[in-house]
Amino acid sequence: MNAVNLLEFDLDGLAAYCEQLGEKRFRATQLFRWIHHRGASDFAQMSDLAKSLREKLAGAAEVRGLAVASEQASADGTVKWLFDVGGGNAVETVFIPEDDRGTLCVSSQAGCAVGCRFCSTGHQGFSRNLATGEIVAQLWHAEHHLRRRLKLPEGERAITNVVMMGMGEPLQNYAALVPALRVMLDDHGYGLSRRRVTVSTSGVVPMIDRLRADCPVALAVSLHAPNDALRDDLVPLNRKYPIDELIGACNRYLDAAPRDFVTFEYCMLDGVNDTPQHARELAALVRERISCKFNLIPFNPFPESGLKRSPRERVTAFARILQDAGIVTTVRKTRGDDIDAACGQLAGEVQDRTRVSQRLATRAPIRIHRPAAQDGRGVYPPATRQESKT
Ligand code: SAH
Ligand code: SF4
Repeated sequence: MNAVNLLEFDLDGLAAYCEQLGEKRFRATQLFRWIHHRGASDFAQMSDLAKSLREKLAGAAEVRGLAVASEQASADGTVKWLFDVGGGNAVETVFIPEDDRGTLCVSSQAGCAVGCRFCSTGHQGFSRNLATGEIVAQLWHAEHHLRRRLKLPEGERAITNVVMMGMGEPLQNYAALVPALRVMLDDHGYGLSRRRVTVSTSGVVPMIDRLRADCPVALAVSLHAPNDALRDDLVPLNRKYPIDELIGACNRYLDAAPRDFVTFEYCMLDGVNDTPQHARELAALVRERISCKFNLIPFNPFPESGLKRSPRERVTAFARILQDAGIVTTVRKTRGDDIDAACGQLAGEVQDRTRVSQRLATRAPIRIHRPAAQDGRGVYPPATRQESKT
């Protein structure tokens, strides 16, 4: 029988496991701290655990991290790991250091079944959900590896923030996600506050409601379009959960959220969703309906997408329209693009078990309408609902 991987458990789960071994809860807490505070994987090293418990664990359990297939460091300090998760699949994790924080971008699935047009993970199709232990292992590895490498003093953390913005749609892997979030939040684990852990979703409405009840961390929603016709084409999940329902779920979420706004992510695609007209439509969509901030993400191109990054001036003009409408708007800095670690470039390796990648490869190109006038106020009618369902 395979040894139980202790990275699979949040503290309650570990306590239940220890109880099966005839051990009290405080033993589970000690064990949990050894694993997550200290980065230990060898039970023999866990000196304050009773010898009898260490012996029981040695026969039945292990702390099983992920195999590192590669590690790359960018000139700007960003580090990207490729982890082999078996079966021909590999997932990516990215560490982004900034002056006042260290953010880890974590993957939740090998591939993604949502199939957004502008996302290289989406283009690869979907293989499988990651287990809780595989989600936690990304943080466990990165935190303890960086602490050693950066020679951080005892007790100082390398990772202060986690964003579930790597490969995959976290809310389509809900059962594994929630215990992993609990490990991140637990004071005996990584001790991150709810506002420093962000789940990013393309809009799985029922699961936004469940997250609100089970583990309300900060929420980012990938919006990318101001109307359903365009969003249907860019984010196919919109056909199931259209914008109105999504905004409703975001509003309900705010009742429990650690912040009093939702962050809308908006990937800026040249000539597709980035005109002043789109910005005005977006402002009208959210104004007085939802407390939100916008984070504009310059598109990171990859060949199969057939899409281009919006020019910088267009991004600035778009941001200004939102700001003038009273909406806090930032433009995301691109980090680590020399090692393909920027948003949407995470591709890992995925054995597609669905037809997503095939479907995307054979989809009609998105219709791009060039402005009639040169003043940037030309008309860019989005594809109609009918046309977008090719
Ligand atoms: N599946 C989740 C989380 C992973 S994607 C989601 O879609 O929200 C994380 C963010 O990167 C999302 O906002 C996504 O829209 C954005 N993204 C995907 N591909 C991108 C690309 N090629 N360039 C820039 N941002 C991209
Ligand atoms: Fe999946 Fe998010 Fe990429 Fe869309 S943007 S395909 S939901 S990972």
